[in-house]
Amino acid sequence: MIVNLYEDAVRRRAKDVMQQLGMCECEICYDDVCALTLNSLPPKYVSSTGGEVFSQLSINTEQGQAEFMTALYSSAKKVHDRPRHKAK
Ligand SMILES: [Zn+2]
Repeated sequence: MIVNLYEDAVRRRAKDVMQQLGMCECEICYDDVCALTLNSLPPKYVSSTGGEVFSQLSINTEQGQAEFMTALYSSAKKVHDRPRHKAK
């Protein structure tokens, strides 16, 4: 099985970022934030068979983290500005 490392990271962090921005946190917005973020980052596929690969990848470097968080924030802001559903 292969997984995109960013997918797990995005799913774990998206809600925090959405909360910080005080934006809508429904499923639609959450999925949109995740999808937009994943599309804006180069995929990082790894084989999940050897679990210890995870900790060695560039997503864990300072620069990798910074790039990741920047992508996540900018995607969340886009969804915040233009949610796909009507404003509540
Ligand atoms: Zn929403």
